[in-house]
Amino acid sequence: MNAKCQPACKILDDISTEIEKLRKNLDTLEELEFEQIFIDHIQKHLNTLDKLQKAYHNHYLKIIRALLAQISQNIDRNDPLKKRIVFFEKLLDHPPTLTELETLYKGIQSLSSLPQLLVTLKPGQIIGDLPTLPPTTPQQPSATDTNPSSILEKMDLVQQKNHEFGGQIQEIVEVLEVSIQQSGPDSLHQSLLEQAKILAGGQKYLALQLEQAKAQLASEWLQKEQLSAELEHTRALSLTDELTGLPNRRAFLNRLEEEIGRVQRYHLPISLAIIDLDHFKEINDRYGHGIGDQVLQSYAKLVSSAFRRHDLVARFGGEEFVVLLPNTQVEGAVKALNKIKETETVTDSRPTTIPGELALPTFSAGVAAYHSEESIADFIERADQALYRAKKTGRNKIVSVE
Ligand code: GH3
Ligand code: MG
Ligand code: MG
Repeated sequence: MNAKCQPACKILDDISTEIEKLRKNLDTLEELEFEQIFIDHIQKHLNTLDKLQKAYHNHYLKIIRALLAQISQNIDRNDPLKKRIVFFEKLLDHPPTLTELETLYKGIQSLSSLPQLLVTLKPGQIIGDLPTLPPTTPQQPSATDTNPSSILEKMDLVQQKNHEFGGQIQEIVEVLEVSIQQSGPDSLHQSLLEQAKILAGGQKYLALQLEQAKAQLASEWLQKEQLSAELEHTRALSLTDELTGLPNRRAFLNRLEEEIGRVQRYHLPISLAIIDLDHFKEINDRYGHGIGDQVLQSYAKLVSSAFRRHDLVARFGGEEFVVLLPNTQVEGAVKALNKIKETETVTDSRPTTIPGELALPTFSAGVAAYHSEESIADFIERADQALYRAKKTGRNKIVSVE
């Protein structure tokens, strides 16, 4: 008998041996022509013992059936192990002999980690002191496997299976308890009950662990989402000009790079305008930096409102703004800039804190159309040169270069 089959298998084995021995003794007694009443009495006891042994056998088989069913549920239909389990289940259809039972037990042990866990449990082992499962070969999880909602779904399934398993074990415990109540406590019943209770304890422990793991996963998932949102916020901040709320120089250069890539692929026109406020320093000097800031904010709104949704208006730095106009020739860009010239004197939209006598400053602008294959730096440089000429030739004007 396999030592790991302790205690139920061993006890069943011992009982069989004892019954066999008694029967032999009885035969000897018959040969000696002993009192018939005494022989009948012993015979009756042996029959009871036989029945009892069969009942124990059945309880034990019930546990094995439940275990097989549980293992089977967690194994894929095409897994070769499934065939072995079906074979073992077939063996259970007719009450197996103890030798078959032992073979069965060895087979189940080799099936998966679950029976390993079960056979290493000692009777009376306390909940929370479960042996760790043998290490399994780590598998590279797929993207969907690591998706938190898919993991939570799988955990739900495991919880459900574990719950069903708990129900089965509970049934076994109840059957054993009723049996003990009816026929009184004895070592075999107690031992089976103890084993079933250990299984029930293990199932509850697993349920608790699963619940905790689920809660932890959900909380880590939430934290990750919060972190991503914060990162996104920080990224947005790093691309936004604080004073005007417009995209900053970095955002502009990123977008310029993207747009130039597209222009080169599809040979589309694109224009760039650099706007510089005229004599802005004087505003600061006369009204203070705070008022200067407000003028810049008003200008930002004014410039933004003059261009289309696909155009990018950004603060390039200081009192300079840039506008990128995809699919636009130089003339279109100049036209849009002239719209600002028409509205820059409109005072309605400006903050009341800007002194009434302060006229919004005029601006000078340089506009360039992109030359295919030229570098981004050259493109900006040509627009800047045009701006320089606008300044040099009297300011408050737009100079464009093809
Ligand atoms: P020009 O017509 O030649 O462009 O003259 P300008 O005075 O506009 O040019 P200059 O380069 O001499 O001065 C730019 C001024 O813009 C100086 C600087 O203090 C001011 N400035 C730059 N950034 C800010 C800002 O964020 N807020 C305020 N209030 N002023 C700024
Ligand atoms: Mg300037
Ligand atoms: Mg200026």
